[in-house]
Amino acid sequence: MKRLILILFLSFGIMKEIDAQCGTKSPTRDHLQGKVLPNARISTASFRFKIFVTILKNSDGSNAACTEADILAKIAEMNADFAPTFCFNLMGIKYVNNTNLNTDMNVSSTSDVNSLTGYNEGGCIDIYVHKAVRDGSNTAIAGSAYVIPNQYLSIENVGNHTLSHEMGHCLGLTHTHETFYGNELVSGSNCGSAGDLVCDTNADPDVTRSCRTQSTCLYTGNCTDALGYSYSPPVSNIMSYYGCVNTFTSGQFTRMSGTITFDLGFFAGNLITSGDDRYPAAVISNTTISSGIANYTTGGTMTFGWGSPITGTFVITPTGSLNAQANKIVLLPGFRATGGTNGKVRIKTLTCN
Ligand SMILES: [Zn+2]
Repeated sequence: MKRLILILFLSFGIMKEIDAQCGTKSPTRDHLQGKVLPNARISTASFRFKIFVTILKNSDGSNAACTEADILAKIAEMNADFAPTFCFNLMGIKYVNNTNLNTDMNVSSTSDVNSLTGYNEGGCIDIYVHKAVRDGSNTAIAGSAYVIPNQYLSIENVGNHTLSHEMGHCLGLTHTHETFYGNELVSGSNCGSAGDLVCDTNADPDVTRSCRTQSTCLYTGNCTDALGYSYSPPVSNIMSYYGCVNTFTSGQFTRMSGTITFDLGFFAGNLITSGDDRYPAAVISNTTISSGIANYTTGGTMTFGWGSPITGTFVITPTGSLNAQANKIVLLPGFRATGGTNGKVRIKTLTCN
């Protein structure tokens, strides 16, 4: 009996790994089409994003989708995957009690998605962690970014680099096996207009082809492209489905940078744009947070409290929450922060420059 349980457990684990795919829809247009990437600007670009995590629980408050330690580890992994071009700063974590969204999130259900996005924090890229996520055909999936690009995503608390994969979609990447724009040739001669539109990721056969077989970290298929050539797909790419995900290519970084650059209006609210040398320090004072969550972030210095030339006090009552991050944080005499039963106070310096 023990052996049976072990085998069942192992089988489930393996299935989960192979099924660890995502429900993000294929794009309906190339959001960078017709735009000339300003390479000089992109090569020096550095983007710091604000992210906010919502952990789902059942309606009775039980069965949390993950621990805070779990998600902090995943964010650290994501920051390593995106370094040094991108950085993600956690502004806060909240819990939502909803059994349906926690244990049966259907990423193809308008009702589920509307219900979920009602909890969007806004001004951040919203990350939702669920116990179980599925697509419209009841297939278990590891996560979804819903559309490309986007400002919210869902993941299960499983697998490696799933958060990086979905964030890649949010910032404009498709799967390496994308076929919406046409099938990429093995030679790469049409790499800019077919496949994932990224030229330094090898052509990857359509996942629906029966010749496309795989085991973890390996492509074992015998597919050929339209010219009869065999594939050598990018099995270790974060946007592939080979379960050996650990890298982005420089072409993918360029495409993500281009997405942000050309969609600045879309992403502006999520970006920490101020730096020490370019923007004045933020001064926050005379404020009471009696309920809800207040998020403050700056790349410069943030000052709380009382003192010249600042007057007044900054008070967080037991039911309010404060999340503050900056390169430098000054707490002046008079500053009071009280995290009560439902309130939390997080004050920390930025995790990356
Ligand atoms: Zn995906």
